[in-house]
Amino acid sequence: MKQHKRLYKDRVCGMVLGRKAAAAECVFRGKVYYFCANVCCETFKANPQKFLHKRARRRTGSRCRQHQHQQLGLACH
Ligand SMILES: [Zn+2]
Repeated sequence: MKQHKRLYKDRVCGMVLGRKAAAAECVFRGKVYYFCANVCCETFKANPQKFLHKRARRRTGSRCRQHQHQQLGLACH
């Protein structure tokens, strides 16, 4: 039982996927992201910052919302 299964999280819909289950992949800043469907991949590509920021949301709180950096495509932290 030495089979290691890597799991990836679909950043758009939050689904956890094994590599084989991923229907689409997208490279952003040298990192590969996997998605359950092409539409999730396209959504991510349209606005990667928005989905990457989801993870940091708890730590940064609501302060960053004022910047509207998602629209500008800038990372503030
Ligand atoms: Zn998805």
